[in-house]
Amino acid sequence: MTDPLPAYAVASAQGCRIRLSDGRELVDGMSSWWCAIHGYNVPALNEAAAAQLGRMAHVMFGGLTHAPAVELARRLIGLVPQGLDRVFFCDSGSVSVEVAIKMALQFWSAQGRPERTRLLSIRGGYHGDTFGAMSVCDPVNGMHERFTAVLPRHLFADRPKSRYGEPLAARDIESFARLIRAHEGELAAVILEPIVQGAGGMWFYSADYLREVAALCRRHDVLLIADEIATGFGRTGRLFACEHAGITPDILCLGKALTGGYLSLAATLATERVARGVSADGGVLMHGPTFMANPLACAVAARSIDLLITSPWQERVAAIEARLRAGLAPLAPHPDVADVRVLGAIGVVETREPVRVAELQRRFVDRGVWIRPFGRLVYLMPPYVICASELDQLTGAMVEVLSETR
Ligand SMILES: *Cc1c(COP(=O)(O)O)cnc(C)c1O
Repeated sequence: MTDPLPAYAVASAQGCRIRLSDGRELVDGMSSWWCAIHGYNVPALNEAAAAQLGRMAHVMFGGLTHAPAVELARRLIGLVPQGLDRVFFCDSGSVSVEVAIKMALQFWSAQGRPERTRLLSIRGGYHGDTFGAMSVCDPVNGMHERFTAVLPRHLFADRPKSRYGEPLAARDIESFARLIRAHEGELAAVILEPIVQGAGGMWFYSADYLREVAALCRRHDVLLIADEIATGFGRTGRLFACEHAGITPDILCLGKALTGGYLSLAATLATERVARGVSADGGVLMHGPTFMANPLACAVAARSIDLLITSPWQERVAAIEARLRAGLAPLAPHPDVADVRVLGAIGVVETREPVRVAELQRRFVDRGVWIRPFGRLVYLMPPYVICASELDQLTGAMVEVLSETR
């Protein structure tokens, strides 16, 4: 508000490069926060947007429908874990979380269980910036601590310590198991980010944990909401992170990479059981945003999915993973580094102390890369189309900058 960190003016972006107004070019290490999986200025997506623009940019979605929404919904249903065949389109990730929470609340109230209003989540989670979403973010590190007093009180299980690729340590599930057992009668849903906790700490946890959570939700008849807004569309090496554990949630949130980073659009998917429960008393889902299923965004999203599915995305993400692992490994023994971890096209260096963002930012820009750290996390999640030399430029800059910053 009064003393902002420096911001760099961007003139254009193309492929994996961001061009600043002063002519400098930066290799993009962020995919504009998980979104730009195909890079920037993508001919197929430009064409999809232009073609749709020639037909209609927008039309209300109450009482009207259109091909871009229908086609996008069809594609999504074909891709996500089986059983999620109801789709609600909204404007952003946070709103899709609000919609998911409202679905869960209405599911129970419409079936005569209005007391089931609480949510159970995991510490270290991040689910967005609107009020319902804020209430399930990590209560301390979730960026929203300041608003705690006005948020509904939900329940938080300990963050699983077992890492991705490791079996689950038995005591890791204890906190979650205890909470769901003690509160099952008042719980509407469990909400979590499968496998990768994003903005709440960039932590990758054991797939066994997710499997156990899904089993406990079934046993105690609590709905499971998977927030795949960050992980969806291949980022973790699987199309959706739920696939690492072979689970199907009752409700699924998608956003971010949905439109390949072109426009703001999100989707909340649900099973038939959820849909029937929500409408059990004859009602409809009580949500209807103005830009619901915006045709322009839907048309670009459908094309982005086609582009992804017809590309060798698995090989690309696997190659990025291997190269991130090799490129970031030199930082592991550094005294200021607490941990280095890589999963799919995500590479994370966790420092022991919070980094000086503005200073690091400048050093990265001086080296021709765009990397935006926060807190104790310096991380990369490049577009899938990045080439080996660009990736080496990113990891090389990270090693240099973090090595010289003491
Ligand atoms: C970014 C994010 C959100 C919020 O999405 P917005 O589009 O920024 O509202 C919610 N959940 C997760 C896991 C995210 O990464």
